[in-house]
Amino acid sequence: MLSALEQYDPQIYELIRQEMARQNGSIRMIPSENYVSQAVMLATGSWLTNKYSEGYPGKRYYEGQQVTDLIESVALERAKKIFKADHANVQPYSGSVANLGAYNALINPGDTIMGLELSSGGHLTHGSKSSITSKIFNAVNYSVNPETGMLDFNVIEEMAKKHKPQIIISGTTAYPRKIEFDKFEQIAKSVGAYHVSDIAHISGLVVAGLHQSPVPYADIVSTTTHKTLRGPRGGMLLCKAEHAAKVDKAIFPGQQGGPHMHTITAIAVALAEADTLEFIEYAKQIIKNASRLAEKLMEYGFKLVSNGTDNHLILIDLRNKGIVGKKFAKALDRARIVSNFNTVPGDDASPFNPNGLRIGTPAITTRGMKEEQMDKIAEFMNRIAENIDKESVIEQVNREVLLLCSEFPVPAHFTMPGSKKIRPISEGTL
Ligand SMILES: *Cc1c(COP(=O)(O)O)cnc(C)c1O
Repeated sequence: MLSALEQYDPQIYELIRQEMARQNGSIRMIPSENYVSQAVMLATGSWLTNKYSEGYPGKRYYEGQQVTDLIESVALERAKKIFKADHANVQPYSGSVANLGAYNALINPGDTIMGLELSSGGHLTHGSKSSITSKIFNAVNYSVNPETGMLDFNVIEEMAKKHKPQIIISGTTAYPRKIEFDKFEQIAKSVGAYHVSDIAHISGLVVAGLHQSPVPYADIVSTTTHKTLRGPRGGMLLCKAEHAAKVDKAIFPGQQGGPHMHTITAIAVALAEADTLEFIEYAKQIIKNASRLAEKLMEYGFKLVSNGTDNHLILIDLRNKGIVGKKFAKALDRARIVSNFNTVPGDDASPFNPNGLRIGTPAITTRGMKEEQMDKIAEFMNRIAENIDKESVIEQVNREVLLLCSEFPVPAHFTMPGSKKIRPISEGTL
């Protein structure tokens, strides 16, 4: 397929090649990113991109759904199996759209939603001022404790009692600790609110049984498919049977048109990959790597929000280092270490120039890196922090990172054992 592209559009071919080289030759630590398997990549770039399938399996508005009905049914069965959910919807185009769909299914414009504040690690779509979710709904935000960096259930309960939201949102985009979804459920119940849980970042850890699942405790669970779950770009909703019809209606025709069948095909593949012992080992190593990296960074005097991590993600509070997040992120990027600058709890700087840096281990763990490599990465990061204005040091680290990357090539051709279990569609249904 790539050779056809080279022939027909050499300009874009060359840019894809450059991006491949960039991904190969850098330590990618943006915690929402990963590398998908060749099987997922192939499904994403398949013939299914040509098909329109408005509706749901067995209830479509266009003909020619002999294959798409089977593919979407396979994806739904696999999603329900690995998340132990009554119902799934694999059509949301992304995590943001999935969240809007969850609200749309349960409440009306003008109702109140209550989610974690952006600067505390919440997502834009949890009712941030700049998100449409705060225009459609009355949004109130809770924060983490600025001293400990942790969720404070007393504060959440107080706010829930005061604001009487119709939906309480649990789940985060920049929170390094475990989340007690059962406590969110108790609070939601006590004020008569629905509980929507957004596990975009941690769904791979949830599937592997390494983090409490919100599925038993939330009315609707929302996730992306491309973060720790290691599938294609996409979104997904899981819910209890009683909300199934509302969820499906909210996504189509409520807010989307035709589903992206090539993405749904690749989601099906990723879900089979996630249903393997290898995936559980992978998820365990993500956490081992993050906790080793956190330990080493603290030894170098980095201050971490909540003093560590339970998951795949580390949030560095740079205020004691006298470097702002953007400057550090840009220097690291010049050394081939890719991260993102981020606000930290209690940070009054703007989100465009905050005092924190967010890193995570899902992608580097896919490359096979382990604790030993985390020690190296922490040392690289410390060297850059201590020589933030010395280009010669940054260049030296750049060369060392490239060497490390060459020892851990991107598994462009890695196929997980689980993917072999996938039966061809011609063999019948599920
Ligand atoms: C990434 C993320 C989203 C949004 O996903 P997109 O696919 O980028 O729209 C939603 N919620 C949380 C918690 C996230 O981390």
